[in-house]
Amino acid sequence: MSVSDGHVRIAWGIDLPPETESRVLEALGPGHALINKPSGQLDAQTGGEPPELIFAPLSVWENLRGDGLALAESFGASERVLLLDKTASPESVEEIVSKGFLTAIPSGAGAEKIRAALAKARDSVSVYEEISRLVGSVITERKTLTEQRDRLAFLHHLLARASSSMDAERILTGLLDDVSGQYPVSELLAAFWRGDSGVAAEIFLSQGLSGAEESARTKYLLHLAAKALGGVPADYLVARVKGLSNTLSPAPTAPGKSLLIDFETSGLAFGCLAVVTHAEISSENRGFLRAAIRQLGPAFRNALAYRGLKYRADRDGLTRLPNRRAFDERLAQEVDRQGRYGGQLSFLLLDIDHFKQINDTYGHQAGDETLRELGAIILQTVRGSDFAARYGGEEFAVILPGTDAAQAWLLAERLRSRTAGHHFEHESRPIKVTLSVGAASSQAQKPLAAEELVRQADTAMYAAKSGGRNAVVAYDGEQTRRASGLAAQAG
Ligand code: GH3
Ligand code: MG
Ligand code: MG
Repeated sequence: MSVSDGHVRIAWGIDLPPETESRVLEALGPGHALINKPSGQLDAQTGGEPPELIFAPLSVWENLRGDGLALAESFGASERVLLLDKTASPESVEEIVSKGFLTAIPSGAGAEKIRAALAKARDSVSVYEEISRLVGSVITERKTLTEQRDRLAFLHHLLARASSSMDAERILTGLLDDVSGQYPVSELLAAFWRGDSGVAAEIFLSQGLSGAEESARTKYLLHLAAKALGGVPADYLVARVKGLSNTLSPAPTAPGKSLLIDFETSGLAFGCLAVVTHAEISSENRGFLRAAIRQLGPAFRNALAYRGLKYRADRDGLTRLPNRRAFDERLAQEVDRQGRYGGQLSFLLLDIDHFKQINDTYGHQAGDETLRELGAIILQTVRGSDFAARYGGEEFAVILPGTDAAQAWLLAERLRSRTAGHHFEHESRPIKVTLSVGAASSQAQKPLAAEELVRQADTAMYAAKSGGRNAVVAYDGEQTRRASGLAAQAG
């Protein structure tokens, strides 16, 4: 309450009796002015410099109404001083003080007492302010801790989910599920390379994209793969995954719209993942998300290694075609699919003619080379949607989904003639290789079981053998329909 700057500090009184007014002014000390206002004239028009303190007797405060009350209440608790001018019950004093006053001073207190009460109250206010400052910083710290705890829980969940799966697609869909609960993420896309699954790069996109959306995303990911590999990947596979998008966003490559995370193992990038967002994410959250997702690297690595292992387990070591196990699995799937959705399904069984003679004449090594080369011819001849496999020793099988008997016939004939026309040789000695092909088809109206489809193709194939080999025979009822073959062999 001392004055150092020559500035007069203003206090207000409301309806202070003259003798109280002088004691208050004395208590405030030099450099202070006390303006005593009648309660009836307290209103918003008061104007002038706002007072530092406002003194009101309890009896006056209790009777304030309307504008006067509003004005008095517009002062903060640390600016209002209550003067206990009448005998009031402790409860009513308590009640009014709880509305917020710096202090309540007993009536009849002398200037010295008033000054002491004000000083004491100001001290407690500053202690209070200090405490609230501390509490404030503790609250902020707790908030940060809570945020960190939430993030740890999120990370823990993310990692637990990812490491519980050996399937890259499952890890990706789980990831989208986890992140979109907390961040405005609409889609994920990913590419992995340096894998062991028979292709140079594997791309994971959301199911249900348009052709243009798919090719824009593929191009973007291949570009990233090329940057990491130092060249465009020789080939790639696209997996269209259900559950990789919430709402489709057209431009994953727009700047700031997608968060890109690379995955590395011993310093080599083996994949990347783009998180497409549909709203702004704070740079702090982007950083966190990036760091969190990068932790999934090993899980993806394991999943891809497992995929590679499964790929090799499903392949025949000599021809690299799917083996019998993979074939059985695929045929069951295709038969099941036809049962559900209808459509045509055809099947070819190919057997090399007199293969034993090739082994006997040119050696087992030559036999192996022939099988390998024939595998390549078959792969080059069938369409992408067909499934060619090494069925057994010198037998191959082709599953033709969505293909009727006539189309199957054409493909079988193309396989037969290409093989017959192909120049096989071993140590510069030409080898004559021909095929006997059996074809069978399952109609949508009367779908066949997998075993029946195979049995019919087998029957047809044996008919081609007994008919003279280098021929295609289609199973047709209990009869087999014979066509092509020997004539072509002659030609
Ligand atoms: P057909 O025209 O009646 O089919 O006569 P084929 O000689 O082709 O039939 P057969 O079943 O008598 O003989 C098949 C031969 O294929 C016997 C087997 O040694 C050989 N073979 C099976 N798998 C392989 C392989 O992986 N490599 C080699 N080199 N030969 C194999
Ligand atoms: Mg055979
Ligand atoms: Mg044979």
